[in-house]
Amino acid sequence: MHEMSIALCVLDFVEEEAARRSNAVVKAVHIKLGALSGVVKQALASAYDLAREGTNLANCELVIDELPIVVRCNVCGAECPAESIQNIRCSVCQSAEIDVVSGRELEVAALEIES
Ligand SMILES: [Zn+2]
Repeated sequence: MHEMSIALCVLDFVEEEAARRSNAVVKAVHIKLGALSGVVKQALASAYDLAREGTNLANCELVIDELPIVVRCNVCGAECPAESIQNIRCSVCQSAEIDVVSGRELEVAALEIES
């Protein structure tokens, strides 16, 4: 499953980072998840819970920051959040000639290290 491979990827990343910091204990990993990333937050959270079981990172929490879709309008120049995934257009002038500025993110944003 898509979400499971992402969860495993995140765990790999955390493990490498922990090793690089002389086996630091990572309390939590924060990831940015854009609304257009194609990943379902709940599915990723459950996959992560399964994936971390029995590993060194069993106590490492996953914190998912959901990012809205932000578009830049090619007609009026406005930069604004899109109303919904189904309705990606400029909320100022309703033009559909837009560029997606953010919303496709799927990346590790931060690690919380136990001090
Ligand atoms: Zn516009």
